[in-house]
Amino acid sequence: MKILLVEDEEKIARYIAKALTAEGHTVETIHKGDEGLKAATTRPFDIILLDLALPGCDGIEILRAIRNRSVATPVLIITARGELPDRISGLDLGADDYLPKPFAMEELIARVNALTRRKGTDSSPLLRVGDLVLNETTRDVIRGTTKLYLSLREFGLLNFLMRHMGRAFTRTELCEHVWKSALDDETNAVDVYIQRVRRKVDEDFPVKLIQTVRNVGYKIEAPAA
Ligand code: CA
Repeated sequence: MKILLVEDEEKIARYIAKALTAEGHTVETIHKGDEGLKAATTRPFDIILLDLALPGCDGIEILRAIRNRSVATPVLIITARGELPDRISGLDLGADDYLPKPFAMEELIARVNALTRRKGTDSSPLLRVGDLVLNETTRDVIRGTTKLYLSLREFGLLNFLMRHMGRAFTRTELCEHVWKSALDDETNAVDVYIQRVRRKVDEDFPVKLIQTVRNVGYKIEAPAA
């Protein structure tokens, strides 16, 4: 699991990161609220651990911002007992769990694992290929930190390719699956839409995700690093 930890107390942050890393998770620690907000809203994480009192922008603001942008990542609030009145507003705003400081590390790990299991049973609306993230519920498409604006047909095509990442489809298959119909000049139509999607998804980025497969058609895949 890729975990974002937003916690300004460096000693506590190090302690948490070390314990979760030992559990096999990847932890990215951010000490400032505004930077945490940016990371949480622009990059994919499996779980976000959020302190409330933070410099720059507090945890409640971060939580509000990520839920407003329909980021569905589970959020576990970890905060001092003095900040307990915030508990209600935190859960109201869409936090998934709450852990008051100080806490035993076993307790934190148990909560993280519980959120992981809960996430696993939902069908996540997020599809990811490299740094490209598509939200099937909100229809947001983000590459790195850039929001992309796709037409309905472009979105349908990209959504289908991302759902079947790594698999190549012929133009005819794409027509049938994406648009549920045979278009008059389907070869040309698919090429036109692929070209449009490429312009938005790949043109301004060094790593190209949409790939032409010779004698077949197209697929989407992040090239091996
Ligand atoms: Ca704090």
